[in-house]
Amino acid sequence: MIHPEPTHRMLIGGRLVGAEGGLLSVLNPATEEIVGHVPDAGDAQLDAAVSAARRAFVTWRATPVDERRAVLAACASTVREHTGELAVLLTTEQGKPLADARIEITTFADWLDAHAAMEYPDDEITETGTHRVRVRRVPLGVVAGIVPWNYPVVLAAKKIGPALLAGNTIVVKPSPYTPLTTLRVGELLADVVPAGVVNIISGGDSLGPRLTGHPGIRKIAFVGSSATGRKVMASAARNLSRVTLELGGNDAAIVLPDVDVDEVARRVFWTCFVNSGQLCIAAKRVYVHEDVYDAFAERFAELARSVKVGNGMEDGVQLGPLQNRAQYEKVVGLIKATIGSGARLLVEGAIPDGPGYFVHPTVVDDPADDAAIVTQEPFGPVVPLLRFRDVDDVVRRANDSEYGLAGTVWSRDIAAAEELAARIEVGTVWINQEAIPTPDLPFGGHKASGIGVENGLEGVLEHTDIQVLSIRKA
Ligand code: NAD
Repeated sequence: MIHPEPTHRMLIGGRLVGAEGGLLSVLNPATEEIVGHVPDAGDAQLDAAVSAARRAFVTWRATPVDERRAVLAACASTVREHTGELAVLLTTEQGKPLADARIEITTFADWLDAHAAMEYPDDEITETGTHRVRVRRVPLGVVAGIVPWNYPVVLAAKKIGPALLAGNTIVVKPSPYTPLTTLRVGELLADVVPAGVVNIISGGDSLGPRLTGHPGIRKIAFVGSSATGRKVMASAARNLSRVTLELGGNDAAIVLPDVDVDEVARRVFWTCFVNSGQLCIAAKRVYVHEDVYDAFAERFAELARSVKVGNGMEDGVQLGPLQNRAQYEKVVGLIKATIGSGARLLVEGAIPDGPGYFVHPTVVDDPADDAAIVTQEPFGPVVPLLRFRDVDDVVRRANDSEYGLAGTVWSRDIAAAEELAARIEVGTVWINQEAIPTPDLPFGGHKASGIGVENGLEGVLEHTDIQVLSIRKA
């Protein structure tokens, strides 16, 4: 079979390169039409990317940090200037509404800017009468940045920002489902970043394991499912690479009885359904106090019925399709199993016949705690509301999960909310606000939701090794 030329090329060692082997097709999840072809990188191209990053590391680590900051800022402005074009491409391959795609592109730029401005201690000196001791933070080498399909662009920024600031170079690998916008960003950055400092390669299912097992990789910064995270950690053991694993979640939203029901129902609704529920920190179990359960459920169901689902390129669409067929089948299977189990639904969302992987919001009414819809991470537009009476009970139920990513707590009584939040076994709890990470605060999962942290000073330091110079004074 003769393949067409790729629509997007990889960035390797400062050059834009096409396919040496096969190509992968990329589908628009709203239409199921092919919208691009990308290289399926073979071993030679993977080696070329890691070697280019390794060579660039020698100079990049010695580049003054202010120059590294300037490169990050230049990347941010280049991407920001192309927001319109990149957002259309992102909606086309990922499915999210165009307005959300624009936010994702500008957030990419904002995160790089935030890292460009971040201070981190790379040389702390203490003196005693007899010794001068320096604790230095030295970069690691080549980082592999592995990204899933739900927020492909902004998650790439979370890999590139801290890696480059700390003096590392990087090989970024987007998901085979959503490589187009990331490769396009690479095309735009080819003349902005010194050759080899950022490399972006695309490929099929075998590329991730080949990249994480490559002997030239010193750190793996991975975002994806907990199942894949376990494989990544095993692969890292071979080279004793450092790992940061940002994995799955089954986050609880907890609504106390003193809230403004209308407002909190709306805000929790969007915490659940943003990006059609395909967000690691989306609320996936909503615990509502019995005093306000019925009013909350009514308002929440109204929103679920009225939200506009469709092709993200159409005006007024608020939720796009699921991103790929496998995810669509998983979510549809979970909804059907929930209905089959006899659970009550407050809203049974339509699942129209194709084309497109569309599932309308579905809301489950107080299912059993051990129902699959409560214990699993659906990663789609289906959410259970669960009734609770007392705080100890809801804390126990929220913590009864293998995951420990994040959560939200909603109450007018901030002290009570804070006390409750501190008892939830997760990495972040947002109180009276939607789940939105910021570049200045460390973010990471407890339990099966991850290892290590991204973002903030801690996220940058995870891209360094410590070197101690202990100097005895003459
Ligand atoms: P996934 O684990 O299937 O894939 C993630 C990435 O890993 C993709 O680029 C994939 O090609 C690559 N990959 C697959 N197998 C690999 C292997 N053996 N070795 C190395 N790389 C491999 O995840 P997904 O389905 O793309 O994304 C959804 C999951 O990601 C959900 O569980 C979600 O909660 C999680 N997620 C977590 C965060 C977070 O910050 N904690 C953020 C976004 C998504």
